[in-house]
Amino acid sequence: MSRQDPWLLTPGPLTTSLTVKQAMLHDWGSRDQEFIRINAGMRRRLVELIQGGDRFTTVPMQGSGTFAVEAMLGTFVPRDGKALILVNGAYGKRMTRICAYAGRAYATIEAPEDKPIDPAAVARALASDPAITHVCAVHCETTSGVLNPTAEIGAVVAKAGRRLLIDAMSAFGAIPLLATEVAFDAVAASSNKCIEGVPGLGFVIARIEALKAAKGNAHALTLDLHDQWEVIEKTQQYRFTPPIHCIVAFAQALEEHAAEGGVEGRGARYRNNCKILVEGMRALGFETLLPDRLQAPIIVTFHMPADPRFVFESFYDKLRERGYVIYPGKLTVADSFRIGCIGRLGEAEMKGALEAVRAVMNELGVKSGAPAKLAASA
Ligand SMILES: *Cc1c(COP(=O)(O)O)cnc(C)c1O
Repeated sequence: MSRQDPWLLTPGPLTTSLTVKQAMLHDWGSRDQEFIRINAGMRRRLVELIQGGDRFTTVPMQGSGTFAVEAMLGTFVPRDGKALILVNGAYGKRMTRICAYAGRAYATIEAPEDKPIDPAAVARALASDPAITHVCAVHCETTSGVLNPTAEIGAVVAKAGRRLLIDAMSAFGAIPLLATEVAFDAVAASSNKCIEGVPGLGFVIARIEALKAAKGNAHALTLDLHDQWEVIEKTQQYRFTPPIHCIVAFAQALEEHAAEGGVEGRGARYRNNCKILVEGMRALGFETLLPDRLQAPIIVTFHMPADPRFVFESFYDKLRERGYVIYPGKLTVADSFRIGCIGRLGEAEMKGALEAVRAVMNELGVKSGAPAKLAASA
């Protein structure tokens, strides 16, 4: 099989291995014993990744990552509960829309997109509003690539006797998040980010006691994690058609994740990808939105260059022609674009991407990637 697909330097769906794709070349019935075994192994492995022991369980949820987040909020925040949503980008913002749809009361703490959430602000909000039952946090805000201080937020939430729900989507499997270190009730993620599976399955890893207590909370049948869990535990069957090929590919991706050294090994490759990317882009004059200490090795936001010959659409198209797909910006604070470091990519692909950026800049006649403020002071 020759490699014709472009490399995806995006926040997902991502480039996957050939063996992950090959895992899908079969048909299974949903009652197939082999599929049932694979599904159970997948659920167990995800609990192991957070060191959840026997206090946690994985509830898979058909659909993209947002389905899992929506199911998590709707199932865990009671109808008479109140969420405190920590917003420093589009994914935090999305959780406010989810609560509005589900009819859950919520308050927000907002930080700019290029700043992490301040745990002290969370402590103050919890102290001043006793109605808040749950805090909803995003681990890595993919909008900018900023890593939020999830452990510190967890400590503040636990101290205030409230419950923590985490959207860990874009970092899960590459940046440690352990139930032994952070007190959370549930973590949501999906098949197609750092585990490097194909899109189609979300999942919530939940504290079993909290899940039991959440019976009857959900606002939607399809998104009821308690019901989904109860039926899968009892019958080994999904309530509604499972994305079988996606789940089998995800199980293969989890094996490859383990073979690479789990969270540590995967994280090390992504950190190296990120370092190569950032150093290479800076050498071409580009500036990152975030200082290195706030940057998660997941996706990097770059300021748009000041040179008027740099037209993002042409830059994007020409990189695509050379086999590399990047990502537009999603910021409100600055004109920007993003390049991902996750997926089945390593040193060779990151260097290839930088070579392509250099060649495309030449083609466009752009001498430097420096953004406006730097060009002005040069
Ligand atoms: C990708 C992502 C999601 C889910 O997005 P989908 O498009 O529904 O898969 C949610 N939160 C974060 C932080 C993400 O990066």
